[in-house]
Amino acid sequence: MEKGIGGTLIWYYTICPRQVWLLAHNVLPDQADHNIQVGRLIDQWSYPQQRHRGINLDNTVVIDVITGEGVVAEVKKSSASLDAARLQLAYYLYYLKHNKGVTTKGVLLVPEERRRYPLELTPEVESQLEEVLREVESLRSQDKPVPARRIHYCKKCAYAGVCWG
Ligand code: SF4
Repeated sequence: MEKGIGGTLIWYYTICPRQVWLLAHNVLPDQADHNIQVGRLIDQWSYPQQRHRGINLDNTVVIDVITGEGVVAEVKKSSASLDAARLQLAYYLYYLKHNKGVTTKGVLLVPEERRRYPLELTPEVESQLEEVLREVESLRSQDKPVPARRIHYCKKCAYAGVCWG
């Protein structure tokens, strides 16, 4: 597995490949951005009954919650970017399997919507993830980011100031 590819890069890749290069090269998003702050609050305030929260593995993977059943849970503020969230969670399961020898299941939790989406690391999901890992590695090793391209997500992207001034 490529070193240093965190779950956030997987998430960003699915939303906008330009973000991968920006984050990988320490161009940090605007921390005062409303969406980042809301996400942080939901992360802090949701599921306080769970004892295992915010688990940092090798400074690569930060797992939001591990439930009492040993299921890896990722908390999101909405279901809007479900594909990105699924891949991010799949990466955590993949990392645990290939780096820690732990095979388990995952679940996406969206407390604001009272929704949960179970996820298993099937061979198909692993194969899709490995393709994404190769593309993320390729993007971040380039000299410069791919050009900014206006997409729907730009309106709420914390990099909007970097891309569009
Ligand atoms: S502002 Fe738009 S183009 Fe720039 S990183 Fe965000 S989503 Fe990508």
